Amino acid sequence: MVRSNPIDRSIVLAMANTSPPQLDPEIADRGIDLNFGRDLVAIPGPSIMPDRVLNAMARPMPDIYSGELVETSDDIFRRLPGLARTEGHPFVIISNGHGAWQMAISNTLARGDKVLVLESGRFAIAWGELAAVSGVKMEILPGSDDRPVDPEALRARLADDPGHEIRAVLSVQTDTATSVRNDVPALRAAIDEADHPALFMVDCIASLGCEPFEMDEWGVDVTVAASQKGLMVPPGLAFLWASDKAVAAYERSDLHVGYLDWGRRLNPSQHYELYSGTPPVSHLYGLREALVMIEEEGLEARWDRHRAMAGAVWAAVDGWSTDDGIGFNISDPAARSTAVTTVRTGSIDADEIRRRCAEGAGLTLGLGIGDFAGRAFRIGHMGHLNPPMLLGTLGTVEAAIVSMGASIGTSGVAAASAALAPHLR
Ligand SMILES: *Cc1c(COP(=O)(O)O)cnc(C)c1O
Repeated sequence: MVRSNPIDRSIVLAMANTSPPQLDPEIADRGIDLNFGRDLVAIPGPSIMPDRVLNAMARPMPDIYSGELVETSDDIFRRLPGLARTEGHPFVIISNGHGAWQMAISNTLARGDKVLVLESGRFAIAWGELAAVSGVKMEILPGSDDRPVDPEALRARLADDPGHEIRAVLSVQTDTATSVRNDVPALRAAIDEADHPALFMVDCIASLGCEPFEMDEWGVDVTVAASQKGLMVPPGLAFLWASDKAVAAYERSDLHVGYLDWGRRLNPSQHYELYSGTPPVSHLYGLREALVMIEEEGLEARWDRHRAMAGAVWAAVDGWSTDDGIGFNISDPAARSTAVTTVRTGSIDADEIRRRCAEGAGLTLGLGIGDFAGRAFRIGHMGHLNPPMLLGTLGTVEAAIVSMGASIGTSGVAAASAALAPHLR
């Protein structure tokens, strides 16, 4: 562990802004290590796991063919459609999100089909690349890393595909690298305006349970998600929901992968086949607890909470902002994710901010991915999160920036507290 530098009075003065700090002369000139408490992750997944979920997982193995585990599994399958707001078919995979991407492709497409990937950062492209390895052609609808997908560009491209060569449109709801949130209903409307039959597949891995999402109302054919982000369960489970149209596409698809194949999973002769084998026992206990917690809070209340907490993060970033320092990656608030925020750091070394937070304070921030490496950090604010956790994160980030002698506009912590204040009643 790296020891912090001796305290620099000018830094402390800068933080206090008005009144000079009263430093205890006994400790002022010694290097003090503050990092002795519970570590916190503020990365966009794996997110913070509730003790209730972790405790639910810490159990001996049950009978997997009958009894409580089967009831737990049935309960999970009953609850899953509501999570995506669909009557479509849910699937549970023992995998990370990449497995759900693979399941979406291999059960609905045929070799040589084309997918149109909507660029708004890293993740939709990575999904398209996985599809390409699996034998389909990928075309990218170019986008940018600081704005959502342009629905008009999608409409125009589909209108220019009279032979319907494009079989599926792949998009993310939230791109976790850029922290943009795409307007899923607007993308659906663009597909409809072009009168195009392509399947509409949406990756909600970073957003499900955090952002409003209405699979059926919004006309989404395939939704994918994973356990470790807004859903508060350790990495290892992925989810897919398929509309009737997507299930029908299974008949002509020919990229089947045995373990992920929908055939047996759609019509299991026994419980075991829902999981293509032994169920992920501990994860199922954890998932059921997480789904109960989501139900206790209420899905809409949860969306509201994420909005309020994101509002506090945005207030902090707004406060810190300077022309050549801290700033938003997504300038339009309407296009910002409420689950993760990518913070550009301008002339300030983003990795040094992260290092000081991690080594000096036990706080792990998300790193800048791809072109953002060293130029941005990310704050995950998804799932199991309350104001002390969030304000602790923001205050630590602020302290780290100030400790580097970098300038901030004003205290982001004060702004974030003010943003949350109306909600404390
Ligand atoms: C995290 C993430 C993924 C990748 O999920 P894995 O579980 O790492 O495979 C894909 N898409 C989005 C939007 C994500 O946030």
